Amino acid sequence: MSNVLVTGGAGYIGSHACKALSHAGFTPITFDNLVTGWQDAVKFGPFEKGDLLDRPRIDQVFAQYAPIAVMHFAALSQVGESMSVPGKYWRNNVMGSLNLIEAAVAANCPNFVFSSTCATHGDQDNVILDEDSAQIPINAYGASKRAIEDILRDFQGSDGLRHVIFRYFNVAGADPDGEVGEFHQPETHLIPLMLDAIDGKRDALTIFGTDYNTPDGTCIRDYVHVCDLVDAHVLGLKWLQEGKQSRVFNLGTGAGFSVREVIEHSQTVTNRPVPYAEGPRRAGDCTKLVSGSSRAVNELGWKPHRSTLKQMITDAWRWHQTGHYDA
Ligand code: UDP
Repeated sequence: MSNVLVTGGAGYIGSHACKALSHAGFTPITFDNLVTGWQDAVKFGPFEKGDLLDRPRIDQVFAQYAPIAVMHFAALSQVGESMSVPGKYWRNNVMGSLNLIEAAVAANCPNFVFSSTCATHGDQDNVILDEDSAQIPINAYGASKRAIEDILRDFQGSDGLRHVIFRYFNVAGADPDGEVGEFHQPETHLIPLMLDAIDGKRDALTIFGTDYNTPDGTCIRDYVHVCDLVDAHVLGLKWLQEGKQSRVFNLGTGAGFSVREVIEHSQTVTNRPVPYAEGPRRAGDCTKLVSGSSRAVNELGWKPHRSTLKQMITDAWRWHQTGHYDA
């Protein structure tokens, strides 16, 4: 069996990726410091606790498992926090990734799949983004991910490390089998916060800003189902295994939903009201982030099956009701 090193494999997207990898015949080796991940989410292969700032530990794991590829999800990813403590993002995301990339090169691991973000594009009002859109991040999170993209391009040039970069839009939903799902501590993402507010687990949701230049004044995002997203990662890995060139793929649906529209859909799916209040803008938020996915569809053969907002909220609500990794 071929081992794949999955950093952040105990997190939301990483745990779904481990499941998809294992179904595709790979053995996912989870490398995670458990700062934001949950050991209970590691169900599909071995677990190695470690931190990307600890280079000897990374080297040890490469030596032990000789992975044929890295899938790099581990990162801090809160836009708001990245604006108030940017150093944490530059150190953890960029220095940690540099350690990992250098370790992959040293271990002759030839394939690198990287989880980047639409936040690298920044605020480009009313544009449907694509892979060639300018990258002008407006928050430290997006800037840290753009820097890692640049590092990967440099190491492709110097050492031939081939990479696939996925820039994702807003990831939502959960494994329909209920084996893994979304659980952040603290939670900052719209849909899980909304579901918590619906069933009284927390206070009313606050809408961050109602004065944006959008039809209803709230921010617009492009939501992608986590299962569709990780399917693309498996296709990206196969792309590299076939010897194809390094490539960037945007993973969006081309459809944007405002915060108010997500609230309305949640009320319809759950048949319950969403308690909410209107508040000020959150620092670092872009007005609209929406992307097409024609490159991923045409070149990778990506076929998103579950990325309607209704399906994502339905799956998230099911997961929300059946339990999670409560510590
Ligand atoms: N949002 C909000 N209230 C919240 C959390 C998020 O209004 O409590 C908004 C946020 O401003 C953004 C959208 O919901 O426009 C999605 O935010 P999230 O944090 O889920 O993802 P991000 O777009 O930051 O990656």
